[in-house]
Amino acid sequence: MNKIEQHLKHHKLRITQVRLDILRYFQNHKTALSHADLEQHFSKHFDRVTIYRTLTSFLENGLIHKIPDDSGIAKYALCRHDSIAHSTVDEHVHFKCKNCGKIECLHALEIPKLHLPKKYKPESANLLIEGTCALCNA
Ligand SMILES: [Zn+2]
Ligand SMILES: [Zn+2]
Repeated sequence: MNKIEQHLKHHKLRITQVRLDILRYFQNHKTALSHADLEQHFSKHFDRVTIYRTLTSFLENGLIHKIPDDSGIAKYALCRHDSIAHSTVDEHVHFKCKNCGKIECLHALEIPKLHLPKKYKPESANLLIEGTCALCNA
């Protein structure tokens, strides 16, 4: 069993070709991917429903996370943690480049804890920083 297969197994997902291929594609990308990106890349191999279902199973089993974006197009990126359920421990800052349009996970940057008013219970937090990325500034 190779590493990608182990990764799927660890997240309690059955090993299928589409899951292996999509997971590998995520691993080879440093930036977040949308459903349309995957559809474009895999159009000859898998239909859009299959891709959609694969993304959903990855999301539910904690392999990838959704990144909120004001464009209305959901983007997804691999999770770094090993836990199967989503946890707030992994919450990190995202960066969107206004020049090239890429969204990256800044895993090293945690979302700072905010003190909410009394009786507010936070469940999740998102922080998307916009600007120009290192490549565009090089
Ligand atoms: Zn850029
Ligand atoms: Zn992320």
